[in-house]
This record gives sequence, C-alpha cells and structure tokens, in this order.
Amino acid sequence: MTPDGNHTSVFDVAVVGGGIVGLATAREFLKRQPGLRLAILEKETLLAQHQTGHNSGVIHAGIYYAPGSLKARACVTGRAEIVEYCKEKGIRYELCGKLIVALNEAEVERLMSLYARAQANGVPGVQLINRDRIQEIEPAVIGHKAIWSPNTGIVDWGEVARAYAADALNGGAVITTGARVVSMVNSEDETRIGYVQEDGREREIRARLVVTCAGLYSDHLARMTESESTTRIIPFRGSYYQIAPQKSDICRGMIYPVPDPTFPFLGIHLTRHIDGTVWAGPNAVLAFRREGYRRWDIFLPELLETLTYPGFWKLAIRYWKTGIKEMYRDYLKGAYVNELRRYTPEIKGEDLVAEKSGVRAQALERDGTMVDDFMIRHGSRVVHVLNAPSPAATSSLVIARMIVDSIEQNGLIPQVRRLSVNFPN
Ligand SMILES: Cc1cc2nc3c(=O)[nH]c(=O)nc-3n(C[C@H](O)[C@H](O)[C@H](O)COP(=O)(O)OP(=O)(O)OC[C@H]3O[C@@H](n4cnc5c(N)ncnc54)[C@H](O)[C@@H]3O)c2cc1C
Repeated sequence: MTPDGNHTSVFDVAVVGGGIVGLATAREFLKRQPGLRLAILEKETLLAQHQTGHNSGVIHAGIYYAPGSLKARACVTGRAEIVEYCKEKGIRYELCGKLIVALNEAEVERLMSLYARAQANGVPGVQLINRDRIQEIEPAVIGHKAIWSPNTGIVDWGEVARAYAADALNGGAVITTGARVVSMVNSEDETRIGYVQEDGREREIRARLVVTCAGLYSDHLARMTESESTTRIIPFRGSYYQIAPQKSDICRGMIYPVPDPTFPFLGIHLTRHIDGTVWAGPNAVLAFRREGYRRWDIFLPELLETLTYPGFWKLAIRYWKTGIKEMYRDYLKGAYVNELRRYTPEIKGEDLVAEKSGVRAQALERDGTMVDDFMIRHGSRVVHVLNAPSPAATSSLVIARMIVDSIEQNGLIPQVRRLSVNFPN
C-alpha cells in the first residue's frame, strides 16, 4: 500500500529519469518486449529539462574518444542511427559539418593524434585540411590545419527525447512526471521505489527491474541501493553566448578548437543550431548547485557535498590552473571573447547578445580520476547509469541497446506477465 492507502502499482520495469538516456532505454525495452509493464518516473513536470534540454545540439561523429571505449563505439554507430531515426520521424537535423582548428605547430601535433583517433574509431569522411580549404569551408576562420568532419550534424536533442517518449507511450509505458524518487528498497523479487510528488505526497511503485538514468543525480540514486558506491557526480556549468543574428554568418556549421587532451571538455566552440541561431560555448566551471544554471546559483548541501569529497580536492590540485582560467573567462566576458577571437578574429564583444547555460554531470572517483567513459553499474535487480556525459545524446540509441542487452545476457529481463496495475493519479 502507498502511504495514503492506495494499492501500490507493480511493474516489470521502472526507469528513473526522463532525459534522453532513460527515454531511449524505456523505448528499447518496449521495442524488444511489447506488452512489458514499464513505468518512467521523472521528477520535473516536463521531460528532458536538464542535460538533454541544455546542450550544444551536436550529433557528434566520434572523433575524440579513446579507441575501443564505449564512447567511441556508441558514438560512431549512434550518429548513423540517429540520422536514420530523425529521417523516420521527420525530426529536423542537418549534417552541416565541423572543423577542429589548429592554430600553431603545438596544436597541429595534438590535432594529428585526434586524426589518428578518428581513423581508429572508423569515423566516416574525416579529412585533414590546410589553410585554403579551411577558408573555403568557414571563411571567417583562421587556422593552420584542421580536421574536417562533414558528417557531424545538428539537431534539437529535446525533440529527439520527446520522440523517444512518444514511442515508449505507444508501446504502453506509463510516464509519471513530478515524481522525485527518494528511496529504493530491494526485496527477494522486486524493488520498492518511493517517490515524492510535487504536492509533497509520498507514493510507491514496485518493479521487478529498475534502471536509473538520473543524470546529475545518478550518484544519489546509485547510493540508494549500493551504499558502498563512492563515485560522485561533480556538476560543471558551461555558459553559452548567442552570436548576434546579423553576425551569424560568421559560422556556417561548427568551429571547434583543439581540446586539451587531459580535460574531458571540448573547449569553447561555435555551433549553428537547428533553428539557425549561432552559439558560442560552453566553457566548464564548477557549479555550486547540481541544477544551477545561473552563475550564482548556490545550494549549500550540494556545494558541501562537492567540497567534502576527497576526489574533488585531488582533481582541483591537478587542474587548478585550468580551473582558474575557465573561471576568469566565465566572469570576464572580454576573456571569453578573446578565446573565440583566436580562431574567428572578426568576433567582437558586442556580437555576443544573449546568454544561457547547461550543467554537465561528470562522475569523479575518490582518487580524483574523472570517469572518462560511459559507466553503467549492474546490481542484482537495479542497473545504474552512473556516467553518461557527452556524447551520450548522440549515442543514446546504442547506450539503450547496451543496457538492455546486458540485462538480457544476465538473465534479468522480466518475462511479460499480466499484473494488475493501479497507478496512482
Ligand atoms: C553543456 C552541455 C553540452 C552538451 N553537448 C552535447 C552535444 O552537443 N551532443 C551530445 O551528444 N551530447 C551533449 N551533451 C551531453 C548530453 O546532453 C547528455 O549526455 C545527455 O543529455 C544525458 O542524458 P541523461 O538522460 O543521462 O541525463 P538528463 O538529461 O540530465 O536526464 C536525467 C533526468 O533524471 C531526472 N532525475 C534526476 N533525479 C531524479 C529523481 N530522484 N527522481 C526522478 N527523476 C530524476 C532529471 O530531472 C532529468 O530529467 C552535452 C551536455 C551538456 C551539459
């Protein structure tokens, strides 16, 4: 029974988190096993409100990731699948291509390693190009050498996520929004999932299998069933600036710098969005609140959680110079503009007209190691997606398949059974 006396609802599978990874996973379950009783619990009133709705909108091609990693495999295949999916659903996307621009010899050396990675990962169509070709593709860019990836594209990931949700609903999923999961208790053959509704009322459902895809709170969800889990999410805010419409022809597709290979973020880039606007960003600074989208959003318990985690200090000692540089650029718009002017010298401060931001969920180990790859942890009946940073949106269909495959291989997928479901209103 739920606390207010209703019968608890019973499901075969419950997915926690209505971002792109949770919705893709729900869809995959129902595609494989129609008739499965599946619930999706999302704490916000709308789906895709966090990372999925606050990102660069890029369909990555798979250039950056360590060969053999989950990211490399899932991104290369995921890109091709997303393009097909968008065609099938009539979702607007564009393969407008991307340049990664090296400005000097030191950057060329790093660019060459990226090119080798792209080839090892089997990224289709990547080319190394010189100054003249750079200017043909993006006339406003100066650069010594560049990687040209014609198959990198753009899409609205929120729209893709909502299409996954529609597929899941058509497959019979029950989506409950405004449902913040606060507890999970395993018993012999089911997990009791407690959640709080927006009006503060507590409810409960039971599921034979649970998959948590909670993004910025994935570590909190993991600790509900694995008290020994020490991996923590550290939130990194990234600010974007919109380029004034009259200057938006400064970028025809996407223009990226050569990233710092020791840091998991790609550097401030220029990206044309599917609505035609051009945005610069994102940078990467520590967020003082997990869902803190404004510079001074602070939530003390969450900030303390970061500051008291030993891994954070080990990371801070290793990257203090990068951290200070990123903060300087965040607080001083002029420094942000200077970074962009390195490869697009025509941009001026007054061309940056609007601001928005996203917060990345980056998993960090106790020893200060940033988890680079996707991380999915299997318990006996609960699977936690602990790290799904970029390019997880591009890779979402493949991540979903990986999750459901591994559940099937472990013999955990519940067989369809007819249960009397009485989901609370
Ligand atoms: C600034 C930025 C730029 C990026 N750019 C790109 C890009 O261009 N291309 C790309 O492929 N990827 C990009 N990414 C990465 C991509 O957006 C994420 O990897 C992806 O959206 C992760 O999806 P998710 O479902 O795991 O997380 P989210 O979208 O964050 O969804 C998690 C959901 O779980 C819910 N939730 C959390 N706790 C609970 C709870 N207790 N109970 C119920 N629900 C809960 C949240 O409300 C949220 O809706 C970017 C990310 C950021 C932040």
